[in-house]
Amino acid sequence: MFDQIRDLYQEVVFDHNRNPRNFRVMEDANRKIEGFNPLCGDRITLYVKIDEGLIKDVSFQGAGCAISTASASLMTEIVKGMNEAQAEHLFETFHRITTGKDEAVNLEELGKLAVLAGVRAYPARVKCATLAWHSLQAALANKETTITTE
Ligand code: ZN
Repeated sequence: MFDQIRDLYQEVVFDHNRNPRNFRVMEDANRKIEGFNPLCGDRITLYVKIDEGLIKDVSFQGAGCAISTASASLMTEIVKGMNEAQAEHLFETFHRITTGKDEAVNLEELGKLAVLAGVRAYPARVKCATLAWHSLQAALANKETTITTE
């Protein structure tokens, strides 16, 4: 089964990197985070509009490798419309699967995101895949405006 995930992963990364979703500046965002992954040189700016605990809109800009761009693109699609607790929970699950600590990945629970479990096959790329998620977590916590994966 893991081979299937890996094939799908390559397909999804290719698609989202070539045509990233929600790739724009958001003028009326109320959270803005700069994320940096020095290991690879990936940079993203994440824009989030939160209203009464609900993620109304999320978008990003930046330059990075295919995996960081695809992961950010996928994330924006998935978390839009979620409340903060749901997004936090998803981040934790995502982090577990990408770092391989959770062997039994619940593919149904993760849905589309499950394809990113394929990053486990490339451990050096985990930080690329998690950059957008760390940025989102910082945005939700509303603490810092700059984060780095190191
Ligand atoms: Zn990268």
